[in-house]
Amino acid sequence: LVSLRDVTKTFPPSQRGGTPVTAIDRVSLDIEAGDVYGIIGYSGAGKSTLVRLINALESVSSGSILVDGVEINGLRESELRRLRLGIGMIFQQFNLFNSKTVWNNVAYPLRVARTPKHEIGPRVDELLSFVGLSDKAKNYPEQLSGGQKQRVGIARALATSPRILLADESTSALDPETTQEVLALLKRVNEEFGVTIIVITHEMDVIQTLATKVAVMDAGRVVEHGDVFDVFSRPRELSSQRFVSTVV
Ligand code: ATP
Ligand code: MG
Repeated sequence: LVSLRDVTKTFPPSQRGGTPVTAIDRVSLDIEAGDVYGIIGYSGAGKSTLVRLINALESVSSGSILVDGVEINGLRESELRRLRLGIGMIFQQFNLFNSKTVWNNVAYPLRVARTPKHEIGPRVDELLSFVGLSDKAKNYPEQLSGGQKQRVGIARALATSPRILLADESTSALDPETTQEVLALLKRVNEEFGVTIIVITHEMDVIQTLATKVAVMDAGRVVEHGDVFDVFSRPRELSSQRFVSTVV
């Protein structure tokens, strides 16, 4: 579903000088339809840059990224829009529109996609029911708990029925119990809708609860990848051993 082939991303030095930063260094990965694919690593390892490349929010310096067999580098604006409709995203700080109600937050991507009005209402109601927030439809984000905000984020990300969901540190702002609740919801998104989930985290237990596959990143490189059980029970690389032993 998503293939990275020898992808490198180098950021140029800033105006004020400094040196170029290679955030992603010759990464190859295959993410298959239906996977819950965890990407784990320390701060600065390149995890967020990787998801921004998959979403074409950044362009690769070299190598290629295929989504459904289509090279996403150099897509035209209209094709990019279509790509992004097929990829939902949720964030650490939820990124909700604070001036919009819960209902209108979830309706927003449908309006952007020019969904017919008569389809928007039932779809938003269905999504709010799925995430268990029908009774909060008229509330504003500031009136919600962190876990409820993230459930709105998930409903909004699913609005246009994407096949891929990118979750960048989606539980890092939540307490352990709320984290488990959000992870359980994401698991249902994967199982009931068949959405492929790419979950970025530095929290080991998020991977253990949710992911089936995992890639360990260190300084822009994928140092190890495979089934979660294999990687965690027998980490082969020194850097993933270090990660497994310090975080567990
Ligand atoms: P964290 O766990 O802290 O979120 P991360 O693994 O998501 O870290 P990235 O945000 O992908 O890490 O950053 C990887 C490297 O790329 C860092 O050294 C960062 O400073 C650099 N970087 C990221 N975005 C840019 C940018 N727009 N311009 C310059 N350098 C950048
Ligand atoms: Mg990050």
